[in-house]
Amino acid sequence: MHLNKLSSPILVTQAVLPSYQSYIDKIKQIWDTHWLTNQGALHQEFQNELKNFFDSDHVTLCVNGHLALDLAIKALRLKGEVITTPFTFVSTTHALTMNNLRPVFCDIKSTDYTIDEEKVEALITPETSAILAVHVYGFPCAVEKLESIAKRHNLRLIFDAAHVFGVEYNGRSIANYGDISMFSFHATKVFNSIEGGALVYGNPEMEKTLDLFKNFGIANAEQITEIGLNAKMNEFQAAMGLCNLEGFDSQINNRRRLADIYCDRLKQIPGIVLPESSAKTTKANFAYFPILVDETSYGITRDVLFDKLADYNVFARKYFYPLTCDSECYNGLYVGAELETARYTAQRILTLPIYGSLDSDIVTMICDIIQANCQYAPETMCIPGR
Ligand SMILES: *Cc1c(COP(=O)(O)O)cnc(C)c1O
Repeated sequence: MHLNKLSSPILVTQAVLPSYQSYIDKIKQIWDTHWLTNQGALHQEFQNELKNFFDSDHVTLCVNGHLALDLAIKALRLKGEVITTPFTFVSTTHALTMNNLRPVFCDIKSTDYTIDEEKVEALITPETSAILAVHVYGFPCAVEKLESIAKRHNLRLIFDAAHVFGVEYNGRSIANYGDISMFSFHATKVFNSIEGGALVYGNPEMEKTLDLFKNFGIANAEQITEIGLNAKMNEFQAAMGLCNLEGFDSQINNRRRLADIYCDRLKQIPGIVLPESSAKTTKANFAYFPILVDETSYGITRDVLFDKLADYNVFARKYFYPLTCDSECYNGLYVGAELETARYTAQRILTLPIYGSLDSDIVTMICDIIQANCQYAPETMCIPGR
């Protein structure tokens, strides 16, 4: 076996696009109406499709996922402290901090990297108003346990569901847990509307509040009833969302095939640890393919493997490293937080390229590179170049 550097770089993901013609057909009506944003016809159509998709009566569309999360926090009128995870994209932590809330960081589980529900209750104080958990990489949190903790202590429960579009749990969309779930439709996500986001919730009264907050708090031409912002989804985004929704199943099927190749190959390599979700996921989305590099059995560290892959033009991501709470902007405020598993994981995690249009031969080659760099591979393994 001989491994060559790829002629063009392979990134961790590639934005999904529908056929050019289908998008052009979809946006044509905008030229008839001159209606570009503010709850237009395509916005309406996309919202209805998503209600169906999420199996929920209440879906609010937003310009992006981060502002959707911001709106959720504002609409729930949270105060004081919020228990959350540091093993996420910075958006989750920034959204709390920018709303003058104090994030209280809880450790994660070593199996699927979601918040450790067994450690949540010990962090609750009289100041706690909510739990903000993340279904990281597409793995559902322990939703029932978190719901019962929230109920017992009268806390709101928010899910950052940016990674779980299309995931079903117990035969039902994962969107239907907690008080509210935020989905991101950013270009790099498993499903995109260029930029975009949605909030899914059960309480019908939330809808009006969210609609107010996302449009400057304007109740009518003469009444401004909330100090709101602008987080509206426009018609071009909605059109992209509608087109990509049609191709979503085939996107997931392609990802599943690639994930199967990765799993079959990588589970045989000492020191490459694959996540194990104990959630009753009835439909997965293969949004990311994280591996944990245990240097004591693999022989080299995550950082060295990252560089080796880059030598072949394969660009994995150290996602999530650093922990959000250890980011420079937080000035060491959270260095004392007990986050043993989260810190261990952040040092060793690597997400590998996965997207529908990725060639399976490239996935095989990535597995070959990872296998070739294992310093303790069993004799029976084929070790190229050694
Ligand atoms: C992408 C992402 C966000 C933010 O969504 P945007 O649509 O990019 O604003 C928030 N949380 C997590 C976990 C994400 O991955």
